[in-house]
Amino acid sequence: MKRKKLIYLGLISVLILLIVTGCAAANPGETESTETTAEVTTTNSETETSSETKAQPTTVAPQTKATETKEPETKAPETVAPTTKAPEYQEPSVVIVLDAGHDTVYHSRNHPSLGFNEQDLNLKIAKACKKRLNEYAGVKVYMTRKDGSCPAGNIDGDECIKARTSLGTRKNADLFVSFHCNASTGVLGASANGAEVHISNYKAYTESSRRLGYIILNHLASAVDLNTRDVYIQTDPTKGYYDDGSVQDKFYLISQSVEGGHPGIIIEHAFMDNSHDNALLKNDSNLKKMGIADADALAEYYNLSLR
Ligand SMILES: [Zn+2]
Repeated sequence: MKRKKLIYLGLISVLILLIVTGCAAANPGETESTETTAEVTTTNSETETSSETKAQPTTVAPQTKATETKEPETKAPETVAPTTKAPEYQEPSVVIVLDAGHDTVYHSRNHPSLGFNEQDLNLKIAKACKKRLNEYAGVKVYMTRKDGSCPAGNIDGDECIKARTSLGTRKNADLFVSFHCNASTGVLGASANGAEVHISNYKAYTESSRRLGYIILNHLASAVDLNTRDVYIQTDPTKGYYDDGSVQDKFYLISQSVEGGHPGIIIEHAFMDNSHDNALLKNDSNLKKMGIADADALAEYYNLSLR
């Protein structure tokens, strides 16, 4: 019987051991649950981190980029600005000196019996020409006189002509244009009539000036009721030769323009002593039309455009 009691006691003690061990095994489960909470915390911290990452993009990095893209836009107009200036420099810069022939001192071709003085007609035509040329871009216009006075002072003849042509030289002109009206007999009723242009015999200028001369005659004939005569060269061997070997031009306005380094032309608009032309010249609106026709012809020749 004592053995049986001992066996029972043994079994009981084994059972107790088992129970104790079972309790100990239950504790690790609690540890696992702690780990789960830790994971949640980690997840939270990750979420925080991700929210930080979201915050970074909004940190205006894109905005900074946007500002950067705007900057080039503001720079763009700056680069356009020089290109708008460029055409100004590319424009043709033509310098033309307009010479209203004669004046109150130098007036060898005045014929009071014809109803006007040539220098007054010439000034009205030249002023209308200048006004019209100023409507074109790329041209600079000078006048040897703007009233009845002589540009050289109280002198006559060649000195007066030198003073006129020297303006072309000083202004580095591309062209010197002298405005005149013609006469043959000086008595009203002369048969010669119409417009003509005189150009230089200097080889480098002759062909281009001839082309300009015909453009002028075409414009004059379209503007007013005028016959067109021709484009002429008149030389004077007694004056000598140019450096290209060609005979000097008869008219000082033309030969001294050549010496000044540019072509000179003379436009004889109409014959003051021809009855038809005389009536035409007495009407100021015709003088204006002639000046505008001259300007439009010069603009066509130099390829100028209206502003
Ligand atoms: Zn004249």
